[in-house]
Amino acid sequence: MAKPRIAFFKFSSCAGCQLSVLNLEEHLLDIFGAVDIAYFVMAKRENHEGPYDVGFVEGAVTTPREVQELKKIREECKFLVAMGTCACTGGIPSMKNFAGTQRQMEEKVYTELWDIQSIPAHGIDYYVKVDAYLRGCAVDLGELVELLKSLLLGVSPHFRPHAVCNECKLKENVCLLVHKGKPCMGSVTAAGCGALCPSLNRPCEGCRGPANDANTVSLAQKFLELGLTREDVRRKFLKYAGNTPEFRRGAEAV
Ligand code: SF4
Ligand code: SF4
Ligand code: SF4
Repeated sequence: MAKPRIAFFKFSSCAGCQLSVLNLEEHLLDIFGAVDIAYFVMAKRENHEGPYDVGFVEGAVTTPREVQELKKIREECKFLVAMGTCACTGGIPSMKNFAGTQRQMEEKVYTELWDIQSIPAHGIDYYVKVDAYLRGCAVDLGELVELLKSLLLGVSPHFRPHAVCNECKLKENVCLLVHKGKPCMGSVTAAGCGALCPSLNRPCEGCRGPANDANTVSLAQKFLELGLTREDVRRKFLKYAGNTPEFRRGAEAV
């Protein structure tokens, strides 16, 4: 039986999620043995044209050219995965959507503007149908392996719908929000990272985007009570997933 043809693509992003794939180390040889990595510019010299069985897309879409490329990729891939927060919700690039006009942002970043054609940053499902999401900035390696194995076995991956707080409690961490007054976003953020940041005594910054039933309005009020300014609260909700209705509600609640 022919191995599934896999492709990795990059749009506007830091490339950290593709790097995470290469960091799979102990799984890498097994995975590369089970699939045909047909296109992965960061990892291989020789790359081949589609069609592909599975396409992983990293990065937000921020230019008209990227929109056209993404639509072509969608046509070429039977199964399309948004890989990382940039591709899922717009991620870090989407901060620019809320910081001024497009032109003001371009003037801040570039000295020569004549060739710049940027558009508001969005995740890839703003333009095309997406079959699976790997959340996180960067993606969680456990979830990446889970998805790859599930695709090979033809079953649905098991991703968690609950909030980071659930994982944090399972780790028996002392709550940073309740006991230390730190502005942790774990209660409104989708689990799957194993409560990575709170386990290192750092508040969750919401990098995986909203959990199911996220009560962001209530958390925004709590942040104000903790002494954050309205602008700080807005920034927290707009940092990774301001394009989502849930986090946008949190930002607009103060
Ligand atoms: S999600 Fe984070 S790590 Fe991944 S490409 Fe975007 S900025 Fe980089
Ligand atoms: S530290 Fe953060 S993630 Fe952990 S239980 Fe408290 S609010 Fe939730
Ligand atoms: S704890 Fe929050 S910010 Fe840290 S990796 Fe998990 S979702 Fe992202």
